[in-house]
Amino acid sequence: MSNEIKTQVVVLGAGPGGYSAAFRAADLGLDVVLVESRKTLGGVCLNVGCIPSKALLHVAKVIDDAKEMASHGVSFGAPEIDLDKVRSWKDSVIGQLTGGLGGMAKQRKVTTVYGYGKFTSDKTIEVEGEDGTTTVTFDNAIIACGSSVVELPFIPHDDPRVIDSTGALELADVPEEMLVLGGGIIGLEMGTVYSSLGSNVSVVEFADQLIPAADADVVKIYTKHNKTRFKEIMLSTKVTAVEAKEDGLYVTFEGKKAPEGQVRYDKILVAVGRKPNGHLVAADKAGVNVDERGFINVSNELRTNVGHIFAIGDVVGQPMLAHKAVHEAHVAAEVIAGKKHVFEPRAIPSIAYTDPEIAWVGVTEREAKEQGLNVETANFPWAASGRAIASGRTEGKTKLIFDKDSGRVLGGSIVGINAGEMLGEIGLAVEMGADAEDVALTIHAHPTLNESIGLAAEIFEGSITDLP
Ligand code: FAD
Repeated sequence: MSNEIKTQVVVLGAGPGGYSAAFRAADLGLDVVLVESRKTLGGVCLNVGCIPSKALLHVAKVIDDAKEMASHGVSFGAPEIDLDKVRSWKDSVIGQLTGGLGGMAKQRKVTTVYGYGKFTSDKTIEVEGEDGTTTVTFDNAIIACGSSVVELPFIPHDDPRVIDSTGALELADVPEEMLVLGGGIIGLEMGTVYSSLGSNVSVVEFADQLIPAADADVVKIYTKHNKTRFKEIMLSTKVTAVEAKEDGLYVTFEGKKAPEGQVRYDKILVAVGRKPNGHLVAADKAGVNVDERGFINVSNELRTNVGHIFAIGDVVGQPMLAHKAVHEAHVAAEVIAGKKHVFEPRAIPSIAYTDPEIAWVGVTEREAKEQGLNVETANFPWAASGRAIASGRTEGKTKLIFDKDSGRVLGGSIVGINAGEMLGEIGLAVEMGADAEDVALTIHAHPTLNESIGLAAEIFEGSITDLP
């Protein structure tokens, strides 16, 4: 069967970028077709990314909190984990959100076409779906095809004991010995889940710190706090070979912390990054340039080199984050609707939902140095926070980066429980060009962890000097 649809806007891919673009364009009165190859909307983020990982991290947190309570005088005994129930709870979270998106698309009269779409010209996309081929003729297109996991050539990826983030979220079992290859955000989040569920988790990272993009000081605190969670943290080390044997995966390492000989693991989670899907949509048929790595270059209006074709989200570059995709989506849809809008954020927040969390926004101290900025940092250790002490979690730290001359907030990093929720205030300060005085004079409620942001600003101003 073949169908033909004509539309003002076609959106290729229904992740956070794609569905946000489709909904905003429809809200602005445009006729929209949304093409998606999965059976549900929501993309990587809702189906196999942000949301299921947070559902499992919630489970991990409850297990860890219950254990920690023993030192405060309340004991719960060992957790009994019913993996089938954990899995179905996680799936119900996904279902609730992806189902909700389906309803929102209908409400807005966005036509959803399920199947794999490819450009056949700069005005047409052909979608191969279960019901046959649909040809969509469009005035404008938004490419929101996202990214895929990176595989390594020397790893036997066809062995079911080698998993990626999607496999890890399936939670097939809780392996006894697990290696997380890649100490970035995704690897550490999943490592946290499996270690809380009972696996012995080791982490290997090629760089000399975990989460290489984050501030070195806050990562140090995270690493120290997690010395007991992880069996090994092997920094400045890489995996050079994996031999699959019947009784396990035998791994050879090289580098500063490399163990001698082969080490046996039951499962390996490969979390070494994601690659853009730009080469998978036949962009050349529409004349859209895709670089060697698969990224599509765009202007600040999110236009590709072909004026009426836009691209957003992971496929246009780093950081590959859902909230960046959503904001780009709104710009693209509004520009198509004839509004003046550009994507020029001062800061895009990054968060590792680990334990403790690591969150940062704006420039880090290292980036400030690299950019030759004249900055001063102010650090508030949570050992001086009433709320942190009352929560039994004093390892945290709030670090703000100020322009030395003007006192403007240029960035900030936090490590500690709830760091992710706290980060919004620093993001707002950076985006609005607030200075230390603005932050210090804002009355923060007591006792909150957020107070540490106001207090860091006071440290910069010189009104607080004696800290532990
Ligand atoms: P995607 O979400 O990748 O969606 C693209 C969609 O397009 C997919 O559904 C795909 O099926 C579809 N598609 C692709 N090509 C075609 C085609 N030719 N035809 C039809 N459909 C097509 N980000 C955060 O901000 N916070 C987090 O906590 C977070 N956690 C994460 C955890 C994990 C485990 C992973 C893997 C990622 C996480 N991310 C997180 C990253 C986040 O998921 C991505 O940045 C985000 O999903 C990108 O959105 P997107 O719209 O660009 O693309």
